[in-house]
Amino acid sequence: MKEITVMEWKTSDFKGGRTRMGRKAGEILEGDNFPCSLCSGKGILPRSKDTKCPVCRGDGMVSLTGPVVVCAYCKGRGEYPPRTNITCSVCRGKGLVSITKPIEACAHCRGTGAEPGNKLPCLKCKGKGVVTKKESKTGSVKNG
Ligand SMILES: [Zn+2]
Ligand SMILES: [Zn+2]
Ligand SMILES: [Zn+2]
Repeated sequence: MKEITVMEWKTSDFKGGRTRMGRKAGEILEGDNFPCSLCSGKGILPRSKDTKCPVCRGDGMVSLTGPVVVCAYCKGRGEYPPRTNITCSVCRGKGLVSITKPIEACAHCRGTGAEPGNKLPCLKCKGKGVVTKKESKTGSVKNG
């Protein structure tokens, strides 16, 4: 029998380190406007000459209702699969997803955002890699 350990909220639980936007996986960011991940804030689709980024419509900035975390599914790239210019279905290309605090790493996908066994977004956290922590009234700990 494997013990299920309750994960504390630690950004170090997330593998992959810093994303290309310099954001750390699992990091909670506050605010409403963020540089667009798909185009790295340039407003132009990567690997294109002058195709307007469909995510930010060329603004280079996207608006989200904070707090937000880096999208675990695409690792903040905004595209999935990588290097395809296909917008990530979880964050819709923004590379960030709104969350409701307090959060904890999704135990189902271990914070990867991907369903174990396949590459679809995790059904528990919907690809965010984090879930809203349920406040336990008694703080009871399950003992297998
Ligand atoms: Zn963009
Ligand atoms: Zn994403
Ligand atoms: Zn999950």
